Amino acid sequence: MLKVENLHVNVENKEILKGVDLEVNPGEFHVVMGPNGSGKSTLALTIAGHPKYEVKNGRILFDGEDVTDLGPHERVRRGIMLAFQHPPEVEGVKIIEFLQQVLVELKGLDPIEAYDLIVEKAREFWFKEEDLHRYVNVGFSGGERKRLELLQAVLIEPKLLILDEPDSGVDVDSLSLISRKIEELHKKGTAILLITHYGRILQHIDRESITVHVMKDGRIVRTGGGELVDRIDREGFARVFEEVGA
Ligand code: ADP
Ligand code: MG
Ligand code: MG
Repeated sequence: MLKVENLHVNVENKEILKGVDLEVNPGEFHVVMGPNGSGKSTLALTIAGHPKYEVKNGRILFDGEDVTDLGPHERVRRGIMLAFQHPPEVEGVKIIEFLQQVLVELKGLDPIEAYDLIVEKAREFWFKEEDLHRYVNVGFSGGERKRLELLQAVLIEPKLLILDEPDSGVDVDSLSLISRKIEELHKKGTAILLITHYGRILQHIDRESITVHVMKDGRIVRTGGGELVDRIDREGFARVFEEVGA
């Protein structure tokens, strides 16, 4: 479904990704780990089509189509959604209006149907109806921001959900909820590409079913099974890098 081939990406004329290959089939669960600055967010944002990330070489295929030059909206339409590491505040745009618009555009719902569905699903993410009339992320805590990203994902049900550190800056209760919701989406058939530093976000996910990629300096230097997550939690990255001579 997703095929990233020999991806080289520049940001502000500096090469950040230096030849990444990655394949995600429908319904698979992939985890990307790596030290700060190794290029994880760059990979996520490039797959999502963020304009600042300039593909210098290689390409991104989705469902057989070359999407390398498509804008972010076009990619969302095709089923690629990115949940941001730092979900931005959008002053003046109410959550409910934003989510309604998304559902009308992507799912063809009418605004009233969309409203009811959003209020119902929002409860699962601990948002009351009145919360939905606040501006997107304005004054939100880390946990609230990440829960709102997941609510959006559950409403859209993308083919591929990319999650950039959904566990960063969240309280333990939100973390547990987010982990459960990721597993629910996965069970319903959404393929997951999850960027994280810690195994904790995978508490509700079956280790046997995941593939782990470890990045260093703009490359994937090791790919393995779920056991890599716990090893990295215990031993850090250095040992894993040593083994592969990276
Ligand atoms: P990670 O998510 O693994 O921590 P990033 O993809 O955010 O890594 O960053 C990889 C490298 O690219 C870092 O050296 C970072 O400083 C650089 N970088 C990322 N985004 C930008 C940007 N917008 N402008 C300049 N440099 C950037
Ligand atoms: Mg980082
Ligand atoms: Mg990052």
